[in-house]
Amino acid sequence: MDSQTLLKQSVVSLKGIGGQTVSRLEKLDIRQLRDFIFHLPLRYEDRTRVQTINKLIPGSTALICARVVSSSILNRGRRSLICQISDTTGHLSLRFFHFTASQHNSLSAGTLISCFGEIKDGYSGYEMIHPEYKVIQQESDCITSDSLTAVYPLTEGLRQATLRKAVQQTLTLYNNNPDSLPDLLPVAVLSRFQYPCLNDALKALHTPAPGISVNALLNIPNPALKRLAFEELIAHQLSQLQRKLADKQWQAPPLKSSAKQTQQFLDNLSFQLTHAQQRVINEIKMDCANNSPMLRLIQGDVGSGKTVVSAYAALLALSSNFQVAIMAPTELLAEQHLRNFSLWFEPFDVQIIFLTGQLKGKQQRQQALEAIADGSAGIIIGTHALFQDAVTFARLGLVIIDEQHRFGVNQRMALRDKGQHNNSKPHQLIMTATPIPRTLAMLNYADLDISIIDELPPGRIPVVTRAISADRRNEVIAKISNWVQQGRQSYWVCTLIEESEVLQCEAAEKTAVLLTETLADVRIGLVHGRMKAADKDQVMQAFKEHQLDLLVATTVIEVGVDVPNAGLMIIENPERLGLSQLHQLRGRVGRGSDNSFCLLMYQSPLSNTAGERLNILRETSDGFIIAEKDLELRGPGEMMGTRQTGQMHFKIANLERDTDLLDQVSEAVNIIQQSSPKNIQPLIDRWLGTTTKYAEV
Ligand code: ADP
Ligand code: MG
Repeated sequence: MDSQTLLKQSVVSLKGIGGQTVSRLEKLDIRQLRDFIFHLPLRYEDRTRVQTINKLIPGSTALICARVVSSSILNRGRRSLICQISDTTGHLSLRFFHFTASQHNSLSAGTLISCFGEIKDGYSGYEMIHPEYKVIQQESDCITSDSLTAVYPLTEGLRQATLRKAVQQTLTLYNNNPDSLPDLLPVAVLSRFQYPCLNDALKALHTPAPGISVNALLNIPNPALKRLAFEELIAHQLSQLQRKLADKQWQAPPLKSSAKQTQQFLDNLSFQLTHAQQRVINEIKMDCANNSPMLRLIQGDVGSGKTVVSAYAALLALSSNFQVAIMAPTELLAEQHLRNFSLWFEPFDVQIIFLTGQLKGKQQRQQALEAIADGSAGIIIGTHALFQDAVTFARLGLVIIDEQHRFGVNQRMALRDKGQHNNSKPHQLIMTATPIPRTLAMLNYADLDISIIDELPPGRIPVVTRAISADRRNEVIAKISNWVQQGRQSYWVCTLIEESEVLQCEAAEKTAVLLTETLADVRIGLVHGRMKAADKDQVMQAFKEHQLDLLVATTVIEVGVDVPNAGLMIIENPERLGLSQLHQLRGRVGRGSDNSFCLLMYQSPLSNTAGERLNILRETSDGFIIAEKDLELRGPGEMMGTRQTGQMHFKIANLERDTDLLDQVSEAVNIIQQSSPKNIQPLIDRWLGTTTKYAEV
């Protein structure tokens, strides 16, 4: 067998592996021999030396050589075999709950044994429960190993010994055939960042030399581990860049509008575009004029005016006689787009269709679907309903996705695929108000081109943000009362730990009741994530129409509608939320031209970091600065939420732990693209081979 395929063999090619073991290994994502090599230990045991009983530390594992002093069966409590052993330095008990008569006999007084196990601090001194042991003839028979013993993550029914042996067998195969797992990081990269070669790294992790601190091995300063995480991150970034390249192989309809149409569109706006908006529009114009598909992400803070930029892109498509689909994550947002687009495209003769899951009446729905299919509809605005099977477009030229982090890559791809014709796909424009620090964007969105709207429309007055202790709740409530008397509206946001939506909703319900009791003259509404979408919409609509003064809400309003008259927001327990999320929430106020306030009502005492974080929010309203700080303080996983990082499955890398690698990754990717392009595909195969499908989700 050639070395190329040696480690790509199925695990069954190893002696002793078959049947159920195969499916158990599969649960650990181990299918090929190679997978054993990248299945890293959970921890290590030190069997490299015999320890004396007087030096044992509870909680650690140890290899001991000692004589049996006595062994007896204890019938009190749970029946067990207790065996007292002693070396020259002290005594230790071995305890067995499962044992045979012959086992009892073999452990007779005077017998010399070697045993290995975890030291527990029991009732009557130190003990080992169910240690591994062996009867030996002399002390020199006590076998020590040359390296620390790896303990691998297991799955139910799989034995440590089985897995350990399989890994060892595979490592031997690999060491005898180094070409079977070539080092795919070129020397230029290794020496640039001073990482060990693959073979050394693997050796250091699977069979570490004695004397190394067991804990240090699995922490990231360990260069061996770091190198593997690094290689994996490189593979991920390369795979995204490959996808981008593959994307460029598709055709797309060039989209252009005439000078007259453009002028008509601009004249109809009630405002002047900002410089940032114009710049991004120009980037989009250039992309769309091409006959390869645009895949562009617009990042812009809440209120920076992304929608009108996307409308301009829509103009390009309509002018070129193509349809545009606009997908928003909620009905409310979709409706807001419907209103805006209807207004902005009034001078143009274009049919706008609104399609959501809640579209009433079969007939109405049928008509909408027909208009989309026969091409009479130019602009199609909706929610997830847009990529249902029943929806077919006559000639979809542009897909616009709002608040992309609410959708999976699969969903937006599904919508785009609806516009696929022979070898042509629609252009795609994605909008997000979640600023993504550059390093993360390189990893997560390397397949997208990114435009940034870094300027707010003129005349916006920054939201005055204050932190206030929950002890002063009554003052806050009085402030609301006052505010409402002036004819203004207000939000009250209840937050709890993000994972517990139930608790969060309950808290909001309670707060609404309490506030209703205290603020008799204030019209109070409630929205939370466990309400039916239609009910939620109804309340939001009432708030928008000023039939309500105060809206008690959970974080569901994070992505919400414009209510310029609502200029006061109280956020409870802000210390529990990420900065970016708080910033998003705060973006709901300050939409009008009057002063607006955000009160962060924290539980005292506030920890130092929490205080520091709230300060950042008070000091700046720049979403990018806030995102960078958030990344610094919380790490990418939390910052982006599981919704986003959950899209990436890593074997070894861990975005929390490996943030500092991200800059190196981009640099290494450049080096590899320049000097070792032939390593790109093997790297992707090695790290994403079997999970490429997941990576695209
Ligand atoms: P976001 O980027 O958060 O999606 P929107 O597109 O909803 O922001 O825009 C926020 C508000 O600002 C809208 O009412 C929009 O009409 C308005 N707007 C957009 N661009 C400008 C501009 N250049 N000048 C003034 N107002 C603008
Ligand atoms: Mg928006």
